[in-house]
Amino acid sequence: MKIEIKALEKKYDNGFKALKGIDLEITEGMFGLLGPNGAGKSTLMKILVTMQDYTTGSILIDGKDIRKERREVRKIIGYLPQDFRFFTRLKTWEFLDYATGLSGMFSRKQQRGKVDEMLAKVGLYEVRDRYAQDLSGGMKRRLGIAQALITNPKMLVVDEPTTGLDPEERIRFRNLLSELGNQDTIIILSTHIVGDISSTCNQMAVLHEGEIAFVGSPEELIARAKNSVWQLHVSNSEYDLLKEKYPVISTIPADNGWEIQLVGDDIEGFEGKKIKPNLEHAYVHLMEYKLNAWQL
Ligand code: ADP
Ligand code: MG
Repeated sequence: MKIEIKALEKKYDNGFKALKGIDLEITEGMFGLLGPNGAGKSTLMKILVTMQDYTTGSILIDGKDIRKERREVRKIIGYLPQDFRFFTRLKTWEFLDYATGLSGMFSRKQQRGKVDEMLAKVGLYEVRDRYAQDLSGGMKRRLGIAQALITNPKMLVVDEPTTGLDPEERIRFRNLLSELGNQDTIIILSTHIVGDISSTCNQMAVLHEGEIAFVGSPEELIARAKNSVWQLHVSNSEYDLLKEKYPVISTIPADNGWEIQLVGDDIEGFEGKKIKPNLEHAYVHLMEYKLNAWQL
């Protein structure tokens, strides 16, 4: 199982180029697509799941051209869109039953079993009789995942999965996704939140203004920021000065000032110690020092 994207461009009807030549190969496992709002993530996700057409380039999924073999390709795709909404007035199980019926993949009897099995898997069996619209934010997302997964897709696309979730729900959702990954499935998770790209992502890419700014493993991205994260103890006035010049990642009150962490290739005139970068540091470093795009 493999997705091959070549020289992909997308120009919207108003002339705006949202994707400017994407080359990407995605293999089995969890793939994280990270990028700020407006980068083109949803555009790319919608194209991949054949909900939207592209302008030029090509995409092969499992060797099949998604334009020429759209029906075939659709059978192996599960998709949870960014703006996923429920039909109102359906109970949790009814919603899943209805969505599954649309796929036409199971007999009536098979389907009932599948629905219950899936509800149990995503931890919603207990609330199966509750109206879907009355579920918590995290539960709604899990129902969305159940809907995307029930046909057993080889490729699952989840766009901004944790938007609107509280930290606890976010962790739970992330764990659920990583449990679902198996050997010949591709899970693509698109997000603007660095924390969503967990260690379970074996591959990732950073998308910026319609272009791929990085592709590799999270560890490789982190390695690039190796000598560029600093911890400093500063006074109020020093802090004011530094935050104008560098992306400050964290600030903790300390004796007569602040203990801060910032990203910078050097910190001329200041004293601090280098610390080991994490993925958030590395993302900020890429944005600021390679793309000049970090908003201070
Ligand atoms: P992301 O999901 O990374 O936030 P999107 O793919 O939603 O980014 O959008 C990328 C860019 O394309 C944005 O500048 C957005 O305004 C623009 N865009 C999205 N949809 C359309 C459309 N239908 N027509 C014109 N521009 C669009
Ligand atoms: Mg989006």
